[in-house]
Amino acid sequence: MKKWNLLIDVELCENCNNCVLATKDEYLGNDISGYSARVPGMGNNLIAIESSERGSGALIEISHRPVTCNHCDNAPCIQHAPDAIQKRADGIVIIDPEKAHGRKDIVGSCPYGAIYWNEELALPQQWIFDAHLLDQGWKQPRGAQACPTHAIYAVQKTDAEMQQHASAKGYEVLKPELGTSPRVYYRNNHHFTDGYVAGAVFAKNECLAGVQVTLECHGQPLGEAITDEFGEFRIHKVPITKDIMKLSLMSQGLVFESIDVGFGDGESSVVLNELCMI
Ligand code: SF4
Ligand code: SF4
Repeated sequence: MKKWNLLIDVELCENCNNCVLATKDEYLGNDISGYSARVPGMGNNLIAIESSERGSGALIEISHRPVTCNHCDNAPCIQHAPDAIQKRADGIVIIDPEKAHGRKDIVGSCPYGAIYWNEELALPQQWIFDAHLLDQGWKQPRGAQACPTHAIYAVQKTDAEMQQHASAKGYEVLKPELGTSPRVYYRNNHHFTDGYVAGAVFAKNECLAGVQVTLECHGQPLGEAITDEFGEFRIHKVPITKDIMKLSLMSQGLVFESIDVGFGDGESSVVLNELCMI
């Protein structure tokens, strides 16, 4: 059977918040019988945008991703309150707006922080994937319709098709170590999870383009890049390690510079602003 999944590409998200606002608009003041109760005007965004900032100066990298209920197949919220939360056959998880009344304990059952407490209605609430619209034949939820970059969209696939698609296109889920089997998938999520090493290379006050930069640790390659016309390089998807890494600058096959670099405590980026090749 085909089920709903949400696909999100972090590199396409521009933090415009259209998805947040469109989703808020759908539920603000709307009691949708059998699906959801109205949400308050302030706070409790059923879809929210998280940001990650790494690097500094001209080499800063800021990324964004929408986060929401993951519609987990192995949902801790359902294990906590099976009487009040249901998983539909199409994969969508819904907190019943009547059965969950007064159940503030449900809020803490989600390890993703995707359940909000509606103080006015005394009700835990999450994004229901706009199930009421999909049941009427809509092809996409409101947030996906409102996204100008196609960073977020929903697909109906069998579980086998979805696993194959995720593997082929590089999608992953949040906190896979929890074993919750989310139905919301992220691509290019390394901007939030992996390390970033960047720098600028000069010689005699001139930017040096075309310099080959390699990064390794204990002889294992971690990444490489070529400096651009501004002498800048950016290496992504670097495993965050406490060990010292070696950064080497090469031109025409010759190593001109080799320096030790490392991530500071709690840091996920290293920026080397003035690497000088004489
Ligand atoms: S993300 Fe949280 S609220 Fe949504 S299904 Fe998973 S455990 Fe439940
Ligand atoms: S609408 Fe699209 S681009 Fe804008 S914040 Fe949402 S996911 Fe990102």
